[in-house]
Amino acid sequence: MGKYVIAGNWKMNKTPAEATALINEIKPLVADAKVDVIVGVPFIDLQAALDATKGTKIGVAAQNCHWEKSGAFTGEIAAEMLKEMGVGYVILGHSERRTYFGDTNESVQKRVRGALDAGLTVILCVGEYLEQREQGITGEIVATQVKVALGGVSAEELKRVIIAYEPVWAIGTGKTATAEQANEVCALIRDVVKGLYNEAAAKELTIQYGGSMNAKNAEELLAQSDVDGGLIGGAALKAPDFSTIVHAAKV
Ligand code: PEP
Repeated sequence: MGKYVIAGNWKMNKTPAEATALINEIKPLVADAKVDVIVGVPFIDLQAALDATKGTKIGVAAQNCHWEKSGAFTGEIAAEMLKEMGVGYVILGHSERRTYFGDTNESVQKRVRGALDAGLTVILCVGEYLEQREQGITGEIVATQVKVALGGVSAEELKRVIIAYEPVWAIGTGKTATAEQANEVCALIRDVVKGLYNEAAAKELTIQYGGSMNAKNAEELLAQSDVDGGLIGGAALKAPDFSTIVHAAKV
């Protein structure tokens, strides 16, 4: 994996047939991408995505996983299962999982553990709610999310972790963080990681910004010194827009 990574989070969109069609549309547009490209698709689309991306450099991500290898967890999917089918990445701790499905810093930590043990690369999402930003506690909230999620993760394992800073107020709202706001929190995350590990680990870490990134604002956001890529929701569902963002990323 390179340092700069653009990942699409398709959320609960696209059937398997639609996923194949969208990936087939994206493929030629990103064939010469200088950064790593990932599509994060619903569980039911994973096989179609793996088939459609075969022979390309596009990675495939799931949008969640359970920490246990197997057991009585109706409706859940184990990291091991994803790994066996050939999935390379998993998005964990997305704010929609935290807000609507009860994920906590502690459960995200367990999911990260399970995913790393299974050999997956994790895209760990962190970010503050609007009220928290207004209270001036963005730094504390994000630092805590990072510290808890990385509890027990070794420096070697950290090489398989991407952190996505996604202010919740910017997700799916059309309200993007300014480039300065994005960079400020990404820099803070890097500083937290430096404190937990060391300077080299912090420097090597890929930190993405996510939150209403689109074809128009991507270049400015991605030009920031501590922004190493993007996690893209809505705009990832339109091949030309996603491709524009991929090509806007610095290398
Ligand atoms: C996301 O779902 O991670 C996201 C950033 O969504 P959007 O780009 O639509 O705000």
